[in-house]
Amino acid sequence: MKKPKPLALDLQEDLAGKKFAFFGAFARWPATFGVKGPREHVTRHGARVVPRVPGADYLVLGDKPGPGKKAARDAAARLQAKGKGPRVLDEREFLHLVRPRLEGRRFLFAGGFSRGLDVDGPAAMVEAAGAVVVGPEATEVDFLVVGPGRQKGKADLERRVQATCPEVRVLDEEQFVALLACVRRPQDAQFDVRALALHLRSLTDPKKVERGVQMLKQQSFHLYSEATPRSVGGIVKSQTLEDAFYACWIGDAGRFGCFDAGLQPCMGQGGGEICKHLVVLMLGLAAAGQLDPRHAFEWARIAADQWPLDKSPEGAELLLRYRAAQAGEVDWRPTETLPEDYYAL
Ligand SMILES: [Zn+2]
Repeated sequence: MKKPKPLALDLQEDLAGKKFAFFGAFARWPATFGVKGPREHVTRHGARVVPRVPGADYLVLGDKPGPGKKAARDAAARLQAKGKGPRVLDEREFLHLVRPRLEGRRFLFAGGFSRGLDVDGPAAMVEAAGAVVVGPEATEVDFLVVGPGRQKGKADLERRVQATCPEVRVLDEEQFVALLACVRRPQDAQFDVRALALHLRSLTDPKKVERGVQMLKQQSFHLYSEATPRSVGGIVKSQTLEDAFYACWIGDAGRFGCFDAGLQPCMGQGGGEICKHLVVLMLGLAAAGQLDPRHAFEWARIAADQWPLDKSPEGAELLLRYRAAQAGEVDWRPTETLPEDYYAL
């Protein structure tokens, strides 16, 4: 049997004739695009890859180091000072520029999703991108998303869809999340809490984000918090240990940390990554309108390259204030989160 040909993805923006200069390797590249990397992707859509910054329409800087990256950035800045020069894009801005057009595309889900992405999350994400969710009886399917969960008839459904829709593109859960993540970018006005949850999955261990979302869905939280335009900090109670709580915060230089009641670093930061408590704090406050999701994303993006702090005056201060509030000595009103606010994450 012939292998099904992958569906050619139309892009939202027309790249024909545009010139791209690339410097620095990409840290991530979505397999969904079906090509090896960003150069192949733009070439396939009629754009040209150029070796130098002058004359380029776009300068794309990958997250990883690469020869000439700094010089390219400087050259672009010099040109821009004269009112010309390319648009400079980081990895995520580039992925957004080359995002596929999903309007009207038909998605079929087979198999359950991981905890945190379940309930109506995936369907809501698809609809927000202008695409439609079709049922198992559909005869026309553009994307078949195969979740890791067991479901009766899942293998039969996969076989039937592949046979009746030879153009169908099959995605696993991770590819699906990566595809949806490039549809919305942090600069967009509609970059909301759902988009934040989606993007956080690429900045820390996705399982931690799922655990955080799951915690918010399970019960309501009283988040004692302090949000400023430059940082956010707060107290997140443990759901497993009755009296345990954590003080966590993150700020604009990517500094972050989470500490238990004895000021010991939270064990959930293994690998130097943001823990679920910080995920709960950021998503909880963003959903309540007390934190700009774009700020939270920007801080988490910078934090992804840094290690959590092992000592912190901010953490100690939050713990002191929380104890004083519990004792009725200071007035600190918590933000209450509602589980139904997170069903679509
Ligand atoms: Zn933590």
